[in-house]
Amino acid sequence: MPTSSFTSASSAVPCPVVESLDAILPEEPLLMMGAGPVPIPAAVAKANTIVINHLGGTMVKVIGQVKTMARYVFQTNSKWVLGVAGPGSAAMEMAISNLAWEGTRVLSIKNGFFSERMAEMGRRVGARVSTLDVVDRSVASLEEIAEAIRRERPEIVTVVQGETSNTVWNYHLKEIAALAKAAGALVIVDAVCTLSTMPLEMDAWGIDAVITGGQKGLSSIPGVSLIAFSDAAWERVKKRTAPNAHWCLDATLAENFWHNAGYHYTAPVSGVLALHEALRLVCAETLEKRFARHLRCSLALQDGVAAMGLRLYTPEACRLNSVVGIEVPDGFSPADVCSHISRMHQVEISGSFGLPIVRVGQMGEQCREHNLFRTVHALGRTMVDLGVKVDLPAGVAALERGLSGGK
Ligand SMILES: *Cc1c(COP(=O)(O)O)cnc(C)c1O
Repeated sequence: MPTSSFTSASSAVPCPVVESLDAILPEEPLLMMGAGPVPIPAAVAKANTIVINHLGGTMVKVIGQVKTMARYVFQTNSKWVLGVAGPGSAAMEMAISNLAWEGTRVLSIKNGFFSERMAEMGRRVGARVSTLDVVDRSVASLEEIAEAIRRERPEIVTVVQGETSNTVWNYHLKEIAALAKAAGALVIVDAVCTLSTMPLEMDAWGIDAVITGGQKGLSSIPGVSLIAFSDAAWERVKKRTAPNAHWCLDATLAENFWHNAGYHYTAPVSGVLALHEALRLVCAETLEKRFARHLRCSLALQDGVAAMGLRLYTPEACRLNSVVGIEVPDGFSPADVCSHISRMHQVEISGSFGLPIVRVGQMGEQCREHNLFRTVHALGRTMVDLGVKVDLPAGVAALERGLSGGK
């Protein structure tokens, strides 16, 4: 009979028996010291528990403050700041898919995994993407970049400020943007890992689109991201004739929510509230102090790791401070190190897409002294446990010297 067919049909999917989160999650949360997501402050966690009307007056006020604070963090006076429901990659795709289309000439400065992702997104929207392939652990010279711009005559140049994958810092960002601008190209910068950890001046450096995620430098939750377009970039978005094939990422539709208090899609309200709190904490600290904290903590960590006897992956000249790459000793894989330190010391660190390194993040809440001592200790003990000869006391002493400003 029809009424009983639901429970008796042989093809029905049976109701599963699963464990509760309490049974799955560790009793004590692991310390998240990898390449993201990173620990979140209590105010961010609290905001993330709240659900409000996505179109009400409270939300309008929250959105207004998020944009104001984001302008400070991006260092831009541009009106065109928007949030994105999605990972940093969704913000990246929002930048690419709104500014590039069939036949657009894109030059991607390719330093590693994430810069290649921008190039791939360009290809997928039909752009004519050329890449300037940079040798691992180095940055392209300005001469090489100028030459590539002359050769390719790009309408858009993409570059990553901090290439999290191989821990390379593109320290020439300002000069690269100037070269692109002089050639009439718009510049898209991936600042997912670096924003609020080191200087980035969108307006002063002439950058046309900056993207970031929540879960790295900003120390918010993953899944809500930010993007800023310059006036020139916004004009290009508005003037395009074929609409963006990505409906959710269409900036002209997102404008409706982020600027006109209207509906595009239901915003991730809790995540936006969390982002609000993360940005508010950045503003309370000020960028100057935040950059100084990141620099001091990261350099002290690097000193500690080196003094212990481990090798840093990237040469000092282009070493990223926001994520530190550490060579894994011969005979071990990154997974050996990551799983041991997690299981035995409750500290999470990252491997890196096939490279022989582990990565320790220095983004947002990761740059706190107690987290550094625990991480350096856990890393050193992991090496000892695995039978690798390291001098852990020397590492801890160097960390302390670095943090206290002594030598
Ligand atoms: C993490 C990261 C991304 C990707 O961010 P998701 O949130 O994982 O999509 C892109 N670029 C850089 C530089 C990153 O560090």
